[in-house]
Amino acid sequence: MENVIIIRYAEIHLKGLNRPYFEKALVKNAAEALRHIDGAVVRRGESRLYVEGVSDAQLGQALEALKYVFGIHSFSPAVRLEQDFEKAADVLADLVKYERMRYERETVRFKVDVKRADKSFPLPSMKMAAAAGGVILERVGGLKVDLTDPEITAYIEMRDMAYCFTRIIKGPGGMPVGCNGRAALLLSGGIDSPVAGCMIAKRGVALSAVHFESFPYTSDKALDKVFDLARIMARYTGEIRLHVIRFTDIQTTLYEQCPPDYLTVLMRRFMMRIAERIAKADKCLALVTGESVGQVASQTLESLAVTNNAVDLPVLRPLVGMDKIEITELAEKYGTFKTSILPYEDCCTVFVPKHPVTKPRMSEIDKAEEKLDIGGMIDAAVAGGKATTIG
Ligand code: ATP
Ligand code: MG
Repeated sequence: MENVIIIRYAEIHLKGLNRPYFEKALVKNAAEALRHIDGAVVRRGESRLYVEGVSDAQLGQALEALKYVFGIHSFSPAVRLEQDFEKAADVLADLVKYERMRYERETVRFKVDVKRADKSFPLPSMKMAAAAGGVILERVGGLKVDLTDPEITAYIEMRDMAYCFTRIIKGPGGMPVGCNGRAALLLSGGIDSPVAGCMIAKRGVALSAVHFESFPYTSDKALDKVFDLARIMARYTGEIRLHVIRFTDIQTTLYEQCPPDYLTVLMRRFMMRIAERIAKADKCLALVTGESVGQVASQTLESLAVTNNAVDLPVLRPLVGMDKIEITELAEKYGTFKTSILPYEDCCTVFVPKHPVTKPRMSEIDKAEEKLDIGGMIDAAVAGGKATTIG
């Protein structure tokens, strides 16, 4: 008899022949999340994973760590023992007794749920459930059976071995990070872009990140905030390669040489171009931003169009149809919100035009950019960049 954690995955089931590839990615990421748990080993089982070797003392910590691993649908701390139904019913009674202690009421509703993955096991599921229910009622006081609305569900699964558990904890869903390539996130210090990054990571994509600062107009604190955000995200996304780019020279040049109402749009086109250069060097297949239609002047459909056509890589905008309330809820869920709202200035708020254009025209942009040494400006910005691996 031993304690294990059962890990169930959702979408990986759909992947047909690629399934072993996704399963291996999930094993790797779960093992990485559990690297601080002494003796923890993650193994593949049939359509699920098992974590073995976790001590009682570190179980809570291990369960907490698994809540951040994309690709996990749910997980359960369980007892694994040989396929002996009577012993399993006994173990289950102990687990229910423990759960029962959380309730101070006279009676608590419970049911037994039996799964026979191993159909060769002689007893049908209903009979097993009734028999185990009987054992539990005998051993644990203050329970009554309720099949429709139980407070405690006691699970027995008959597989290669018997598995008993009473808790199913929700995982974060999605697909294992790294199994769907890499993308470069334009990471500001705001609310939106960290959420956008987490959403794309949830689809199995590993992240590089590019942050633009306007030193000395933006402070060390503003930069610390971005590193903090990347660290919070890294719990979900795994390691993030964060590139910090000094944007001040480009902003100054644009400020001096271009029509003021086009300043933001032109800055955004430079951000995209620089991010694309870094993305390609990091072998990223797409860019990611936190833009959503109509949120600000630079996110009208017209502005998005001219931001897009500065680059060749696809630009992923997972927040495109969300409003601020929905985005804020996700920021809270991913744990980035409190850090995002710290009031440090962003590079875009340093140089803002009074009347930013909402329907930029490509002819005006071409006219403004003709005068600029775009290649040279990008080269200089990239050469001055600094990369750090976070997480
Ligand atoms: P956020 O909350 O992500 O800052 P926002 O609503 O403030 O977004 P903008 O400032 O227009 O919107 O930025 C739109 C997107 O451009 C951001 O979501 C981000 O992907 C990118 N971006 C903006 N500023 C920066 C920056 N300083 N460094 C890197 N990317 C940036
Ligand atoms: Mg912003």
